[in-house]
Amino acid sequence: MTNEDLVENLVSDKTLQTPQIIKAFKVIDRKDFVLSEDKNRAYEDRPFSIGYSATISQPTTVAIMLEELQPKAGKILEIGTGSGYLTSLLAKIVGDSGSIFSVEYAPELINLAESNLRKYNLNNIKLFVGDGKAGLKDFSLFDRIISSASATEIPDEWKRQLKTGGRIVAPRQENLVVLDKISKYGFKEEILKGFLFVPLK
Ligand code: SAH
Repeated sequence: MTNEDLVENLVSDKTLQTPQIIKAFKVIDRKDFVLSEDKNRAYEDRPFSIGYSATISQPTTVAIMLEELQPKAGKILEIGTGSGYLTSLLAKIVGDSGSIFSVEYAPELINLAESNLRKYNLNNIKLFVGDGKAGLKDFSLFDRIISSASATEIPDEWKRQLKTGGRIVAPRQENLVVLDKISKYGFKEEILKGFLFVPLK
């Protein structure tokens, strides 16, 4: 299996539909983001441990989240950098018209992500060590917020740091929540069921 096969599968089962997202999946090779012992099976549609109780998410899940998020331009906040796989997909999708602010709890994983990312020369990513539940107030407001770690409730700080017209895609318990900010205090929520994520620390 190759990265191209991984993408073809996601396209043929219609998980991936947006041309810009498909293009990013073709450029960002998942093999560069799994640990060395998993390189020979990097294109399987499953998560892999990356240490520090974190996993690189399953490609299908990443694809669903990105199709829901529809990243375009502007500022994007990511919570749970992990391997940097989703981070680099985001950066590739928005290109010069956007920037990615990614927060990771474990400093060791920031180092891992940094070295994984280096190869791609993406200059629109900023990485931060910290507790993503607080968001990144200094860089708000954000057009999009995406989390790979599941919350019991979507943190209020994320809702506050989101632009009106913006969207949050984040796991809450076993569901994936798509939250649209339709006015300063008004949100519209859609729920996709049946996902498994590592919990937010
Ligand atoms: N998108 C990543 C997924 C990593 S798993 C990838 O594909 O590699 C989820 C990540 O969230 C883990 O790296 C974990 O350390 C991180 N995390 C957990 N709680 C967090 C918190 N409160 N703030 C920031 N990151 C957190």
